[in-house]
Amino acid sequence: MEVKLTNLMESLVQLKLDEVIDALDCCKCERCRMDIASYALNRLPPKYVVTAEGTVYSKLDTLSVQYETDMLNALFQGAKLVSENPRHHIAPDQTESHS
Ligand SMILES: [Zn+2]
Repeated sequence: MEVKLTNLMESLVQLKLDEVIDALDCCKCERCRMDIASYALNRLPPKYVVTAEGTVYSKLDTLSVQYETDMLNALFQGAKLVSENPRHHIAPDQTESHS
């Protein structure tokens, strides 16, 4: 059986972001969502699990309440930062300059 490492925190943060995005006072475009997610992920501890290839990991209840609170804090902070300084007009690949 093929197994791989998965950072559980990555999917959890994205799920949580979907859940709270309406409550966040910021742009909801794909770029800004990703910026918020990456901000949060850089501040949260990774949570690696070994999963079988193709398995959808859904044991969200394995996370403690503390994780949930940390995640929300990080997402709200990220949203605040992104709304103050949105980067949706900047190409993700900045090797190409148009100026
Ligand atoms: Zn945006």
